[in-house]
Amino acid sequence: MTDPSLPAGGPAPLDVLIVGSGVAGLSAAVRAAGSAGLRVGLVTKAELAQSTTRWAQGGVAAVLGVDEDSTDLHLADTLAAGAGLCDVDAVKVLVGEGPGRVEELIALGAVFDTHPGGGLALTREGGHSTARVVHAGGAATGAEIERALVEAVRETAAALLEGWFAVDLLVEGGRCEGVVALDPRGSPHEVRASHVVLASGGAGQLYAVTTNPSAASGDGIAMALRRGVPVADVEFMQFHPTALHHPAMPRPLLSEALRGHGALLRDAEGRRFVEELSPRDVVSRAMAARMLEQGVDHLWLDATALEHFDQRFPTISASVRSIGLDPSADWLPIAPAAHYLSGGLLTDLDGASALPGLWACGEVACSGVHGANRLASNSLLEGMVFAARVVEAIASGREGPEPSGALRTVGAEDGDTIPVRVLDSWASDGGSDGAAVPAGDDGEVDKRRHRLQQAMTTGAGVVRSEDSLATVQAVVDDVAGPGRGP
Ligand SMILES: Cc1cc2nc3c(=O)[nH]c(=O)nc-3n(C[C@H](O)[C@H](O)[C@H](O)COP(=O)(O)OP(=O)(O)OC[C@H]3O[C@@H](n4cnc5c(N)ncnc54)[C@H](O)[C@@H]3O)c2cc1C
Repeated sequence: MTDPSLPAGGPAPLDVLIVGSGVAGLSAAVRAAGSAGLRVGLVTKAELAQSTTRWAQGGVAAVLGVDEDSTDLHLADTLAAGAGLCDVDAVKVLVGEGPGRVEELIALGAVFDTHPGGGLALTREGGHSTARVVHAGGAATGAEIERALVEAVRETAAALLEGWFAVDLLVEGGRCEGVVALDPRGSPHEVRASHVVLASGGAGQLYAVTTNPSAASGDGIAMALRRGVPVADVEFMQFHPTALHHPAMPRPLLSEALRGHGALLRDAEGRRFVEELSPRDVVSRAMAARMLEQGVDHLWLDATALEHFDQRFPTISASVRSIGLDPSADWLPIAPAAHYLSGGLLTDLDGASALPGLWACGEVACSGVHGANRLASNSLLEGMVFAARVVEAIASGREGPEPSGALRTVGAEDGDTIPVRVLDSWASDGGSDGAAVPAGDDGEVDKRRHRLQQAMTTGAGVVRSEDSLATVQAVVDDVAGPGRGP
């Protein structure tokens, strides 16, 4: 299997193959092809600019030289939000290196909002003890970051495979040597490289009610699981408290920045019931409890007192006005929605997974920075910081993992060896069809996906129990069918 779009005689081998074109994949691609001088290929299942990153609203949390803030404070806020389950070393890396990565992004051409007199405009969000979130276009931060990175990647990457769907890792001799990917016509190809960087994002689409776009379907984690690569903390799906309660899917998000500017949460009787700037898990649980108690399926966000709403939040304003709501007069209906996967492939402090040659960064990874609950606006930051570390490690000749960061916990009872169950063949180990199959014409995959999403939202949401999870498990087993599991 070879790529027909590449020149006859064979292209030069790739040093790095990146899967995904969100903030993590694009940041890795820019750095690898730029300062590291590596030959980079990028596989992404839609157009280059399609990703969850593009939808990000509120901004990027980083300590950018403001007097009352410090990296120690950002560290403390992140650890508190993570409920004691963060890896402290990984969080130190995140908050320590984050400001430098944001400055590099600005140097690359990303334009963040500033005060009229100059200087970056900063917002405070839930769980942050001070205002430290930089943003662009009001609440269109992700679109601006994606724009700047896409422009840079188009100029530098050696091979861009857009519309190519990665379905499996190529594992040979205990090492990742590339991926199997379907081209836009659905034919499988091997795409080989010395190193593979998974940056395929999260899995909100496992749920029927989510803020995530359709590409966030957990493909990277599925590929890793099929090859026995350890993942962790996938039970920690973060539910965003203020998704607009509306049939549109993905659910339009009413950014945390609204609460940062004074918007209030109100129950069905109009009463406040929780401190608005608490971490997201706290607010979502308080909402779920109040909704149960009052027998309602949504509550309210009251942003009527916010000044200059339309100017400050043009994208949110457009989205609520498009369904006939006026944020200066109407309370906005809200309910929690699946938003961010805190877990993923276990990685060390340089983004190495347990499988030599395979690296992971961004939402697909479990680097240890989020623990049980991600602090608002730490995700874009994580993508930038750990993408850079992956590239630096590859460029310095690193082959595989070291016992650091979240990965340190793997195999600790086994003399620090890393247990990887390596499967050397592709088509023979995943059941009759070998691997995850994108939606087919007969609609069977869509039906299975729909059942899974409904079951996850009902049984594995903000409120869950042993019984509800057992019900979800039964649906998963049934949907997966014999021979289809990892
Ligand atoms: C509405 C919304 C608002 C948000 N706001 C913020 C915010 O203000 N601040 C913040 O820090 N975070 C925010 N987040 C979270 C943040 O946007 C994401 O966590 C982050 O962008 C993830 O970046 P990523 O590069 O890891 O993955 P993504 O941006 O999801 O990119 C993944 C890429 O992988 C590709 N891909 C996936 N599977 C395959 C496959 N099988 N083969 C080939 N390609 C594949 C996708 O097409 C995509 O290009 C928000 C999320 C949402 C949904």
